[in-house]
Formats: sequence, C-alpha cells, structure tokens
Amino acid sequence: MKAIRRFTVRPVLPESLLPLTGLARNLRWSWHTETRELFQSVDPEGWQAAGGDPVRLLGTVSAARLEELAADRRFLRRLAVAAADLDDYVNGGRWYQSRENGAELPAAIAYFSPEFGITAALPQYSGGLGILAGDHLKAASDLGVPLIGVGLLYRHGYFRQSLSRDGWQQEHYPVLDPNELPLGLLRQDDGTPARVSLTLPGGRALHAHIWQARVGRVPLLLLDSDVEDNDAAAREVTDRLYGGGSDHRLLQEMLLGIGGVRAVRTYCGISGHPAPEVFHTNEGHAGFLGLERIRELEREQGLGFDAAVEAVRAGTVFTTHTPVPAGIDRFERSLVARHFGDGGELAGVPVERILELGAESFPGGDPGVFNMAVMGLRLAQRANGVSTLHGAVSREMFAGLWPGFDPADVPITSVTNGVHAPTWVAPEVVRLGARQIGPGRTEDALSVGGSRRWDAVADIPDQDVWDLRRVLREQLVQEVRDRLRASWLQRGAAAAELGWVDSVLDPDVLTIGFARRVPSYKRLTLMLRDPDRLRRLLLDPERPVQIVVAGKAHPADDGGKRLVQELVRFADDPRVRHRIVFLPDYGMAMAQKLYPGCDVWLNNPLRPLEACGTSGMKAALNGCLNLSVLDGWWDEWFEPDFGWAIPTADGLGADEDRRDHLEASALYELIEGRVAPRFYDRAGRAGLPVRWIEMVRRTLVSLGPKVLAGRMVREYVERLYAPAALAHRSLTADAARDLAWWKGRVRASWPRVGVEHVEALAAAPVNGTAELGATLTLRVQVSLDTLAPEDVEVQAVAGRVDPQDVIRDGRTFPLKPAAGPDMDGRWVYEGPLALDRTGPFGYTVRILPTHPLLATPAELGLVAVPAGTDTGGGVLLR
Ligand SMILES: *Cc1c(COP(=O)(O)O)cnc(C)c1O
Repeated sequence: MKAIRRFTVRPVLPESLLPLTGLARNLRWSWHTETRELFQSVDPEGWQAAGGDPVRLLGTVSAARLEELAADRRFLRRLAVAAADLDDYVNGGRWYQSRENGAELPAAIAYFSPEFGITAALPQYSGGLGILAGDHLKAASDLGVPLIGVGLLYRHGYFRQSLSRDGWQQEHYPVLDPNELPLGLLRQDDGTPARVSLTLPGGRALHAHIWQARVGRVPLLLLDSDVEDNDAAAREVTDRLYGGGSDHRLLQEMLLGIGGVRAVRTYCGISGHPAPEVFHTNEGHAGFLGLERIRELEREQGLGFDAAVEAVRAGTVFTTHTPVPAGIDRFERSLVARHFGDGGELAGVPVERILELGAESFPGGDPGVFNMAVMGLRLAQRANGVSTLHGAVSREMFAGLWPGFDPADVPITSVTNGVHAPTWVAPEVVRLGARQIGPGRTEDALSVGGSRRWDAVADIPDQDVWDLRRVLREQLVQEVRDRLRASWLQRGAAAAELGWVDSVLDPDVLTIGFARRVPSYKRLTLMLRDPDRLRRLLLDPERPVQIVVAGKAHPADDGGKRLVQELVRFADDPRVRHRIVFLPDYGMAMAQKLYPGCDVWLNNPLRPLEACGTSGMKAALNGCLNLSVLDGWWDEWFEPDFGWAIPTADGLGADEDRRDHLEASALYELIEGRVAPRFYDRAGRAGLPVRWIEMVRRTLVSLGPKVLAGRMVREYVERLYAPAALAHRSLTADAARDLAWWKGRVRASWPRVGVEHVEALAAAPVNGTAELGATLTLRVQVSLDTLAPEDVEVQAVAGRVDPQDVIRDGRTFPLKPAAGPDMDGRWVYEGPLALDRTGPFGYTVRILPTHPLLATPAELGLVAVPAGTDTGGGVLLR
C-alpha cells in the first residue's frame, strides 16, 4: 500500500544523551573518526544499515537501546569528551584567528557553488567540482576561515547509477527528504521558515526555503524551491543537479546567484553573522550573484550601474574550473533578456547592461550567446584557474577579453586545488601516523600542513608501510566483491551463479584504480585500445595486474554511456572478470575505500583538458602511487622518484585517433616495463619490494604537504580573499563613482592615446649590437589626449626575443614624463633600460592606464603600443 502522507518521527533522546543530537547535526563527524566511532557504538548494526549516517541512525535506534546507553557511564564519558571536543573546535581560535594581519582579513566570505560534496549522507554533488567545494568548506572550518557556503538543495541530488544486464547505464533518482538529511530549516525569530523570492516572467514567483547544514564551523545554506506557495513548475526548479534544458538551468542559476545573496542576507540578519566582504564564485554557475549585488547597491546606496559594477568587482573572486567548452554555461541571449527585462528579476537594473556583461564580444565569440564565465570574469576583479598549467591555459583561452595583451599578462592567476586529508585519508593511515609522530601532530599535519611534520614519514619502517598497504588492499578487495555481487544481483543474476565473485581480485596483486566522471576527454576506455594487450597484462602469470574502474556518465551523454558499456562488457568476460571490475555508482563512499586500497592511481585525460584533477591527490595521501598524463596538478608536482608520467602526443593536432594509439601504447609499456616489475621486485630485505616502498614514502613526504586543501585555502585567503577585502573596503560609494567615472574617461580618450616616436639616446646599439651591462636611455613621444601622466604608465618592455621578434619573459622599465604637454597633448617620456641579458634582445614601449584601485594594469583591457606592433589577444573557446 502506498502512503498518502509522509513525515519523519524524530527520536526523543533521554536527557543525558542529548549531546548526540548536536554531534549528529554537525557534519564534522564526517571527517572526525572518534565521533564516527562513538555513533557506531550506539548501535553497530544500525550504523551499518544507516550507511554511516548519524541522523539516520538516531532515527532508527530502539528506545530500549537508548535507555541502556543513558545509564552507561563509560559511554556517557566518551559522549561528554566528544561534545566538548566539538565545542572547542567550533568556538576556539584557529589559524585565521592568529594571523598578524587579522584586521585586514575579511570579516566573512560567501562561497557559492552549484554542488557540494561533503559526505555520502548529503548527496548533493556530481564530481570533482562539488567535492572540491566540500573540501574547501571543511578546510576553511579547520583553519577558522569565516566562510558561508551557498548552494541549492536538489530533491534528487545527482543520480544513482546501476547497470542493465548488457552493461548500459541506468539512472535512478531516489527522493531525498530534507527532514531525513543532516539539515535544519532556517527560521525567522517567530518560528516561520525563512525564505527568499524571485520574480519570474509573466508575474510568476519563485520562492525557496533555506536549509542549513553545519560543516564544522562553517554554515552551508542550501536553497530549496519545493515549497507549497510555488506553482508546480517552480517547485521543480531544484529537482536535480545538472538536469533539464537551458530554461531550467537558467532558473537554477538565478536562484543560486540571486536567491543565494538574499539567503546570505537573511542568514546574517537572523544569526548575527558578519556580512561577507568577499564573494567567491566556484565556476560561473553562480555568477548572477554579482547582478543581485549591483541591484542592492543601486537601491541602497544610489549607485549608478557602472559604479555598482566597480564596487561589486572589488569584492568578488571568480574561479574557473575547466578549459572544456561544454563545462561552461552559455545561454541564449534572448532567454536571459526575457528573465531580466520588464516584469522579470532585478527591476531597475538595465537589461542591456546585464546582457553586455555576458556578451562574447571578442574574435570568435557568438553574438547570440550569454556566457556565464565571461560574466564571471567581468564581475570579478580577481580570478584564478586551479593548477599552474590550467592558469596558463585559461589565460590563453580568455585572452580575447583583454585584447592587445599577451596571454601572460591576462589577469587570471592560479591556485592549485587541494584535498581535505581528514576526509580522504584512511583511518589506518592516520593511526600509523599517530604512532609515528603522535595524534596531535598528525591532525595538524593533515589539516594545516607544513612539510616538517611530513618528514617523519621517512622513518616509518619498510615492514610497517607494506603491512599497511596490504591491509588497505585487502579491505578494497572485500569492498569490491560486496559491490560487485550487489551489482550482479541488480543486473538480474541469481545468487547461485555468483560463486565466482568470491575470487574476484587478489589482495596480493598489483591493483590499479581508475574512477572519475565519464566525459570524453577523460578517456575511460583508453586502456581498452588494444584489448589483447590489456588481457595479457591482467593475466600475466608472473606479474599480474588487477584494475578497478568506476564512473558515471551524464544522463544525457549517450557517448559516455557507450564507453561505460564497452568497459563493462570487457570486464564481464569470464577470462578476465577476476582481474578487472567496473563498479557502478561511483561516489564519496566508494571513493573513500578505493583510493587507499589501490597501489596505482591511473589518470589519462587529453592534455591539457584536466584543469587540476583531485582524485590522484587523495590517492597519494594514502600512499597510492600516481601513473598519469602530465596534466593538471601532476604536471606541476610530478617527480620520477614517486610516480610515472604517461608520455603525451599533444603535438599531433586534430588526429585524436593516432594520439590515443600512441598514448595507450605508452601506458601499456609503462605498466609492463616499469610499474609491475617494481611492484613485484622482492629481492630486498625480508622479501619486501623496497623500491616500491620508497616510492610510497616519497609520495607522502613530497606530495603530502602540497596536496592539502588547508594549503589551498590558506593561499585563497592570502592571495585573493585578503586583497579583495581591502579593495572592497576602499570602494566606498564615492570611490566607486570616481573609479567608474575615471574608467569612462580613459575609455573615451583611449582611441587617441598612442606611442608616436621612440629613440634610444645614450649607448644606442651600433650595427645591431650592444654590450652587456650597458644602459640605454629611451626617449619616447606619446600622445595622451585629455589624459594626464597620473592616469597612465608609460613603460619599456625588454627581454630576449624569439625568431619572430616576440619578447619572451620581458621585464618592464617605467619611463618618466620629461616634457609636455605640447599644444596637441603630446608628452615626452624618458628613462633608462638596462641591457642585462646576452643574445637576441629587443624592447618596445607601451602605455597602460593606471589607478590605485586597479588590481592589475591589464584590468581595463586597454594598452597602446607603437603603430604596427599590435599583438592581438587569443580567441576564447578555440
Ligand atoms: C575526488 C573525486 C572526484 C574528482 O576526481 P578527478 O580526479 O578530479 O576526476 C570525483 N568523484 C568523487 C566521488 C571524488 O571523490
């Protein structure tokens, strides 16, 4: 029988057990082993059944058991310790509170993301972007950074994956009842649920409730449109993550960005939390947050659009996460126009100006498109990519927004991603660390970082390292068998046919892992390029390998589903099924077992399309070695003494087939010739693979401190949040008006600004040569139109030149006004230029706008160079 109403009966805990509620409601349990162990001891079987989710556990535990615990003095003591520990964690001073420049740091930062992967118990993520956002919140919490997370609560999350009999991906969308999730509804003082509302075309409204999760010290606000006052369509806005067509996506993003700012204001009003000085948008999906803040400033401070843009930019940080065009949101311009014009949202903000912000107004741009990443960059004074390589790729990709600048000057920096070690390091590894250097220092090493603490790994004896690896591999083997059996039952097999599953994988065989989403650039099936060769590797009598594969294809991506099917079919073959498995429903719970249990983590994307990649970092923290294309983070930190680089054939241009062939061959050769021999080389003491073990140690010592989310968040604070907060404070209403006026004046004059004449005075090169150490004196005639010397910087750029006369690694030398202006507004500038390098050398002169409130001289995208030397920017989305 189907119920006509559904609700949740909450447990009534005996007084002495009440602290359990607080512990269950704060998601810190998801990375705090002691708290999880406490919940497990409440009811070990119930814990299993509840999938390790304390809220669900407390909803199912029997009254008799609760009474028993209420009288169990030992349990109550442990409970009191855990509750006091959480209290310390949440209220004590941490890294942020001990900064010397504390007064300069933002009072609060709002961090917006379309997805958050915090725990399997709150499935609101699809992959790396969401997991990164979750790790960002957790690391911010550990460091005491006053962040507020903002996202959407999807009624069905992403989707659960299973397989049909013939290996085709099946999607399921179980309903998530927020009352059964670790969330609380944000309420006004009078008890009514707080809500935000948006205006939709045709006079419709979109209302949303605000659910709150506590991620340690960090509140996470999740907007939910499934409220009764909404019409049926509006209730569906937050139905699924990345589902639906572009109308649906636009509404989700309006709710996230605009509704999100309103939710933050409401939250701060109710809780007394300081207002954010910095807004950080994790990819372009939340970009509308800037428009809502423009509206606020127009209404509350009477700022005009341009001045409001300046004020918003100052306090905004934009992180771009992908060079793959499909990963960037682009809407029909007309669709956006319809939602913001008369009768739509943001009444009073001129819709033409909104459309300009997302316009692809550069070579190769599509005039009919509104591009969220482009708007993100225009509304953020600070922007970054997520690894050093991705920073460089992004500067090229978006160079069209800064015409005339070399990609190197494009104001997009990079902060390499990190991962939250307490979440991703297996408890067994933490325990070994605790034995080695003590529990407190281990906790510090994992959350804050600092390489000295990691050096102690070098002293762990070979045998201990190898025993640990074996324990982790064995746990994985068990996990794989359980999951594989469940999958086969689901695919319609009878239990009696599945005896073979008990001998799938071998805890002593070299284990390779590959798990990630299945967009084509990640090349799930590269390993299948030569199936016979792969089979030989798997079945090698001396040095076999076994492979665990997992990954979800986007529900609309039939190409991806075909790749999954190809892999499943290969793995279904009775000849190899004991050595290669595909596990459906990749997610955090599986990942937490998979990374530690693998010996080698494989990553073979099409370089340079993997912006960073984080699964390899999580693997590394557990002593798993990386075997990867030099892309993302691996390009930055790879060293041959702790891993392997798969050679790439990126130079081959469009011939992807040949590229795949070459790279797959290189992969097989590496596994066969290097990886497997080293794993199975037991000539060392006590029959241990000592060289392998040394690589495990080097992985931990070298990569451990770098790959931490704590390191990443500290970089965000120091390099982006702190300067953004200062810029935000400088941009008072008056300063914003002045800056907007100044920019307008500079833009208007710029067509008549130019470098007219350049001559070298002293030590001028003779017959094309000059001597090292000589100093040229340059004299330059420039026209500045109506601008004054304080509005511009005139500089010489000098350095080695390549055969095309392009200056590489140029240094800049500011020139000073020596005379002017003449009747036509012409000035003479002079200054020295040191010839500090031998070889082909060149210089040029350029004029840039300058103002104390600009973050970089490229900010306006204006530069004047001598006629005929215009470099032109790159092209977006090539
Ligand atoms: C870390 C993680 C990812 C991201 O992995 P990439 O290497 O960046 O592709 C995706 N899904 C889950 C469940 C993860 O834990």
